[in-house]
Amino acid sequence: MNTEDEKVLQPKIASREVTTHILKAFGLRMSKKLGQNFLIDARIVQGIVDAAEIKPGDRVLEIGPGIGTLTQGLAEAGAAVTAVELDKKLPTVLKETLKAYDNVTIVPGDILKVNIPEIMGEGSFKVAANLPYYITTPILMTLLERHLPITHMVTMVQKEVAERMTAKPGSRIYGALSVAVQYYTEPEIVLDVPPRSFIPAPEVMSVVVSCRVRQQPAVAVQDEKLFFRVVKAAFGQRRKTLANALRGAGFPKEQVRDALEAAGIDPVRRGETLTLTEFGQLADAFAAQKNA
Ligand code: SAM
Repeated sequence: MNTEDEKVLQPKIASREVTTHILKAFGLRMSKKLGQNFLIDARIVQGIVDAAEIKPGDRVLEIGPGIGTLTQGLAEAGAAVTAVELDKKLPTVLKETLKAYDNVTIVPGDILKVNIPEIMGEGSFKVAANLPYYITTPILMTLLERHLPITHMVTMVQKEVAERMTAKPGSRIYGALSVAVQYYTEPEIVLDVPPRSFIPAPEVMSVVVSCRVRQQPAVAVQDEKLFFRVVKAAFGQRRKTLANALRGAGFPKEQVRDALEAAGIDPVRRGETLTLTEFGQLADAFAAQKNA
């Protein structure tokens, strides 16, 4: 049987029957600790593939392939997939479930620790993942802050996290994650996913978020590290005024007063009311003091 025949005969992993069969055949017990909730709805897999606009030859980094459910969809669409999986039991399973595809590479390891440029090699790539929910924010921040050549990230996350990613200034849930995601990307919720789409069903609603990475960050700042220091400080103590929150995070009193004045921002405002542009102006005002 050649690879093409195997592909045609390959059942879709994204169904309750096939997933249950694979779990049983390999004697797998799903780990809550590793955030294992496997997709069993082929329409959602296709929804992620479509949202990422996967074309033959696209290079895709997948985080946490599990038993290969989304990986199969990506591979069927012709992507060259590199999938990083932490669970040591799964590479053997994946070798079997994805044996019909020669366009998949499994990398055992922790996505927070692997050397992504090394495994992805030269050139830009997309990210597609049904993320383990216990480390969604660290994964997103790692992917964003490292300035990797990512063009588009399509991820399944907890609905509540997606709402924070897309939150606007003034809303209760607008925070450092909202600023970071919106600084680097254009996030958009594209699909609602109910708990019954997974085994086991999670206790929360999920959504698929599409984050197109901007060619340039949303605001131009002189010192990106300082920008994020200011953002984290502003949201560090949400009930305090901006001036107090910045002082509480170690920015000296006079510098805070002068920077807020130079940026034209009222010191009694709260961090969660500042737009990205205002955060940029404030960070640049601090940067100007350093350069003075
Ligand atoms: N992609 C599969 C699917 O859609 O059915 C599985 C998704 S499941 C929500 C998350 C996967 O991430 C699990 O396979 C889990 O073992 C893996 N995982 C958890 N922590 C990880 C980490 N730090 N690095 C890489 N993979 C991880």
